[in-house]
Amino acid sequence: MTKPAKAVALISGGLDSLLAAKVVQQQGVHVEGINFFTGFCVEGHTHAIRSKDRGRPKRNNALWVAEQLGIRLHIVEVIEEYKAIVTAPRHGYGSNLNPCLDCKGFMVGKAHEWMIEHDFDFIVTGEVVGQRPKSQRRDTMPVIARESGAGDRLLRPLCARLLPETLPEREGWVDRQLLHDFSGRSRKPQMALAAEFGFADYAQPAGGCCFLTDENYARKLGDLWQMRGERSYEFDDIMLLKVGRHLRPRPHFKLIVARDDGENNFLMGYRRQFVHLNATSHPGPLALLDGEPAAADLELAARLTARFGQGREAESVEVEIVHPGGERQLRTVRPLPAEEIPAYWYL
Ligand code: SF4
Repeated sequence: MTKPAKAVALISGGLDSLLAAKVVQQQGVHVEGINFFTGFCVEGHTHAIRSKDRGRPKRNNALWVAEQLGIRLHIVEVIEEYKAIVTAPRHGYGSNLNPCLDCKGFMVGKAHEWMIEHDFDFIVTGEVVGQRPKSQRRDTMPVIARESGAGDRLLRPLCARLLPETLPEREGWVDRQLLHDFSGRSRKPQMALAAEFGFADYAQPAGGCCFLTDENYARKLGDLWQMRGERSYEFDDIMLLKVGRHLRPRPHFKLIVARDDGENNFLMGYRRQFVHLNATSHPGPLALLDGEPAAADLELAARLTARFGQGREAESVEVEIVHPGGERQLRTVRPLPAEEIPAYWYL
């Protein structure tokens, strides 16, 4: 008896990667999943923070996929290594700051390293020809295979019949006739296959698998880079971009204002790293000040903080300003009227 071939499948938590892994698993291949945590992943983040989303079920979709397939899932943190992909993508960005082509090459490359280290035979992804404008085109798919180092050990079971034969097909580890020829942006073939397999309740596709495809998020990241004069970030920076209302009233500082109790609690965890403000005379949000504020800036920041609390219409509001070293000041300020906040301050 020959041992079954072993495949490592990239699992994002979406439908395509679930189906791709299932198609291969059905052919008797031993499949394990790999999921990369970059810091930008949508999975399990802001919907767990916002108060308005409290009723929504919280689920790690990658783990859910592993459970549906009955496979092991390896969650690999790549925050540091991924920085180079985001800040200097060789193939540029998509419609926002999403470096999809470089990202796919990077992830397949990491899966390839994992495959060699763990003595697996090939890699599976849920890519579909023509589904994404940059990373999933017929002409860019070979780029991913080549630049990742995976070559023809990279199998895309959902569209393999439209692509040249790969090693797993030539070796007979999988039967090409049982693979698929999906193409284009329609999700109907995937939904039909999901129904065939009996998968229900899978994650609905929502634009992309990470925040870098989100226009608002990308604008805030672009602002961060512009103000720093370089494309760089730390993990806390990119987490904070997911939370709160961001306003930049002056080039040298911005304010992150919680929008609800959930965000207030989340931002509390960062208050020792930043100058932070909150109204003491009226209920209101916590605001973090990111930058190098002068005395006049603190006055403006206090007035803005008061603006977003329940004292917004009051003549005066008392605002406490606390510095990272613990030094506290109390200021009595007039909340900034809405008409004095230009739209361009909102990031
Ligand atoms: S959407 Fe994000 S995680 Fe997905 S391929 Fe593009 S950059 Fe990578």
